[in-house]
Amino acid sequence: MNLHEFQGKEIFSRFGIPVPEGRVARTATEAGAHAAALGGAVVVKAQVHSGGRGKAGGVKLAKDAAEAEAKARAILGMDIKGHRVDQVLITPATDIAREIYLGIVLDRVARKPVIMASAAGGIDIEEVAVTAPEKIVKFHLDAKGTFRPWMARWVAFQIEKDPKAAAQVAAILEKLVKVYWECDCSLAEINPLVVTPEGKVLAIDAKVVLDDNGLVRHKEFEALRDGESDAERLAREKGLSFIPLEGSIGCVVNGAGLAMATMDLVKHFGAEPANFLDIGGSSNPDKVVAAMTIITADPNVKAILFNIFGGITRCDDVAKGIVSALETKPVSLPIVVRLTGTNEEEGRAILAQAKGITPAATMDEAAQKVIAMAKGGAA
Ligand code: GDP
Ligand code: MN
Repeated sequence: MNLHEFQGKEIFSRFGIPVPEGRVARTATEAGAHAAALGGAVVVKAQVHSGGRGKAGGVKLAKDAAEAEAKARAILGMDIKGHRVDQVLITPATDIAREIYLGIVLDRVARKPVIMASAAGGIDIEEVAVTAPEKIVKFHLDAKGTFRPWMARWVAFQIEKDPKAAAQVAAILEKLVKVYWECDCSLAEINPLVVTPEGKVLAIDAKVVLDDNGLVRHKEFEALRDGESDAERLAREKGLSFIPLEGSIGCVVNGAGLAMATMDLVKHFGAEPANFLDIGGSSNPDKVVAAMTIITADPNVKAILFNIFGGITRCDDVAKGIVSALETKPVSLPIVVRLTGTNEEEGRAILAQAKGITPAATMDEAAQKVIAMAKGGAA
């Protein structure tokens, strides 16, 4: 689950990481009032689940309240990488001497979280990672959670030469490690962590991603959820893995591997999948109904492909699910179903009774049929 900058900063602040004060506004007038209350120059910052807001024009300095109001008016409603800006953070402008990058992310290859730190922080850090990777210091965290103060100092002194500032960076890093473990993050990132001309170190941005699998331990984070589409919410509530894509073939599959293979096959035969959707190992008709609801809500979908491999999932249960989904909510789109495995005969018999379902014996046949039907041809 992605958090907004202001939510990440609230967590940082709770763990003792210094952040500038900030207030969230949903209208330009409110933004102006916040700026007036803070006094002096402020930064108006789009709160969206996307990086690169600065480059997209979503982070603007304002010298006073009137300018803050005007900048907020321009930023609110803006589209940043497909995310509409509904709220802005108003925060006092910080004088910056240097920008540091400090982040912890899960390194899947090493199977450990890794600290990444660089003196070349700021909006071009992705470019630094590609063109000058030697400027990024890496330190893997012990999965048992032992992080010693000397480790934090070892990292900090490589990226910050001023000893007073480096000591602050080290202290902040120790706290960031605590945030990472205690909040079950998959990413905890400060970019930039700034050193002011007076030598004070503070986090002026926060990017926190919480591991969805850890959320059961953190009921308090549920209130931070934002920006989820109706389809994503339904998928989460029903326990489906769902990723929307741009194509025209709606795919309903059981198992992540089979879902990937199905998407490959749709592409292989010349069309694009509309989604990745894994209904999982259970064959609960309720999940099939939810899957149909999610897929038919996407106006790009021209035909639906069910690809079910019956193992623990029983084909007759899935067939019943499809029939009951169609009874609850009739679908006018073509539906191609390929069922194989446990109770496939029973499953096919159930579907043969239902109207508007085209059976297919193999994956290849199913993909070709559904693509032909999506283009308006006969199967
Ligand atoms: P991002 O582009 O989404 O990562 O948003 P950031 O919060 O990191 O802001 C982008 C850039 O704007 C930073 O790297 C800074 O250079 C600049 N910036 C943000 N806040 C301030 C501030 O308070 N003072 C100054 N001088 N620059 C700022
Ligand atoms: Mn940033």
